[in-house]
Amino acid sequence: MSDAPFNALLELKLLNTQLQCVEQSSSPYQKQIVSLQLITILWMCAEAAIALFAALRAHSVALLGFGADSGIELVSAFVVFLRFKKVSHLSEKRVARITGLSLFALATFILGNSILAFTNPGFRPQPSYPGIVLLISAAIVMPWLSSQKRTLAAKTSSGALKADAVQSSMCAYLAWIALGGLVVNAMFKMSWADPVPRYYFSR
Ligand SMILES: [Zn+2]
Repeated sequence: MSDAPFNALLELKLLNTQLQCVEQSSSPYQKQIVSLQLITILWMCAEAAIALFAALRAHSVALLGFGADSGIELVSAFVVFLRFKKVSHLSEKRVARITGLSLFALATFILGNSILAFTNPGFRPQPSYPGIVLLISAAIVMPWLSSQKRTLAAKTSSGALKADAVQSSMCAYLAWIALGGLVVNAMFKMSWADPVPRYYFSR
């Protein structure tokens, strides 16, 4: 009669081979992705520690926000690392959902942080040198890391890695915002520390 079932079976088999090809073609990039995620994980641990330390010393909301955001980025980088390291049976779909959620959390966080950093006069931080060094390095390293991840995400068609790449570029954005806040505050500090008006007012 009809050979429709046979054709369907053939198509299914073809699809299966295609899927295997995708799986195989992603393997040469797997090593690169795993090392990129390792760099991100180490960076985020250092970033969180230095930012929180500098934030507490300088009473800086901008630095505190930057440190807390590292925690979100750490979660995202870690699940993508697990996915490509294949140590656990995390599916691309599940990892993409986690990275997508943390991306959303990060965006909300950055919005709140940006508003706080520029509008809260209760927090006038001392200029923090470790903080400034950290922010400048993040502003330089993160865009590079993000573009590497983006390229590999396109090659492996991984939505999870793509979301993680966006988070790295958001980290750079947040670093610039925090730097702006610190510079503005340093300028305020300078105008207050101006000896002439102080001498004038003390008379
Ligand atoms: Zn960050």
